[in-house]
Amino acid sequence: MQNTVVSRMLICEFLQESNSFNPVLCGPDCFSSNDINQGGALLQSTEMNGETIEGILHTLKVRGVHSCDGIYMRSKSGGPVKQEVIDDFLQKMLTIIKADGPFEGVIVSLHGATISDKSTDVCGDILQSIRGWVGPKTIISVSCDLHANVTNKMMCNSDFICGYQTYPHLDHYSVGCRVATLACDKLEGRTLVNTRVTIPVMAPAHANNTIQGKLRNLIERGHTLIATGKIVDFTIFQVQPWLDISEIASCVVVTAENKEASIMYAQELAQKLFQFRLEIQGSKLSSIDEVVRLALQNDSGKPVVLVDSADSPNAGACGDSATVIKHVLKYKDSLRCAVTVLDKNAVMKAFSIGVNNKADFLLGASLAPKLSNPVLVKNAFVKSLIGGTSRKRSIKKFGTLCCNCNRICANFDYVKIRKCRRFTVLSGVWNRANVVSTGFCESVFFTTGELRSNFI
Ligand SMILES: [Zn+2]
Repeated sequence: MQNTVVSRMLICEFLQESNSFNPVLCGPDCFSSNDINQGGALLQSTEMNGETIEGILHTLKVRGVHSCDGIYMRSKSGGPVKQEVIDDFLQKMLTIIKADGPFEGVIVSLHGATISDKSTDVCGDILQSIRGWVGPKTIISVSCDLHANVTNKMMCNSDFICGYQTYPHLDHYSVGCRVATLACDKLEGRTLVNTRVTIPVMAPAHANNTIQGKLRNLIERGHTLIATGKIVDFTIFQVQPWLDISEIASCVVVTAENKEASIMYAQELAQKLFQFRLEIQGSKLSSIDEVVRLALQNDSGKPVVLVDSADSPNAGACGDSATVIKHVLKYKDSLRCAVTVLDKNAVMKAFSIGVNNKADFLLGASLAPKLSNPVLVKNAFVKSLIGGTSRKRSIKKFGTLCCNCNRICANFDYVKIRKCRRFTVLSGVWNRANVVSTGFCESVFFTTGELRSNFI
């Protein structure tokens, strides 16, 4: 009888994109609403088609490496995480490592831009802790979002860091495959060197993507380098702009079979990104009055979609600003528009007075009263009350969607609001989808005029 020793790798996940301008801390509740998994539940799950973890699991299985279950915690984007949440994650990870270790590798799924009320480098802290527990010889391979802030501490405490290569993000599964492949290659003795080159560039997220333009060309250059065998992996990290912290930068991370190649090609890609830094800044944002004026001039017969990017829940903002409502109220007789605002008290009031009744509503600034002011809407009519929580079903109401690996992407180009006789001003279809996913009952769908649509 032959005895074979199977290599084991520990898998874990801590996902949260932080917005340091949001004063509302992200506590345990933010994570528990997305399930905190421990034990075999996630590894057995059949409901994560297209997730990073699934890409990791598939790759390890193909490579004959046994997957071991760590802790999986994820939250929607939000304010800084309460340090107690990070401490709890690390304590549970330490318990698993002590009980089930040693492992040949640890594969860590992170967002990469997470802060807490005590630290501006949570991802670096997590990797440093894990490195301290598993020792210098154990492989640590890390997956991140394309908008990660890859810090020095993260680099020093990991072997590999891979990020999404698409924005909008469509490659969650493949980044899992990449990060696990690098770990398995190194485990089998392949020499691989990871190099990061930071770039003093920060671009607004609304202004660029990897579907077109210079950023797409740069990504294609990276793929060509892989296809021609010059490098093994690369990520162009475009750091998200909602972090007011001291160590922050975009960067390029390249993995190659030798140090010279990893440095040379990381520098090449970084220099190219620096050269077109001004082109990815996008056009100047307009004031609310300016865009409403432009919307009023619209005679295309199609709706106008406006995005309040300063209060984007998908970027970790509260989503409780009623500032847009304040500006469109004066056009309420001539403009049909719809705006969402997160306001639990207003929703409770609407439920208490019931459908088809009227009342004065004070909307907005319910979570971050220092960032915006509430707006009084007099004699508002409660048209409907909905308690649904189904994310996909709710999103589908808002327009044509493309679905990739169970990830829903609402492309603004395809948003169509049927039966609007004139046009609709809508604050952030994408953002609304996010609000819906986190508790539809807490958001108010404010409208002026009678919307001839299937919104509500
Ligand atoms: Zn991102």
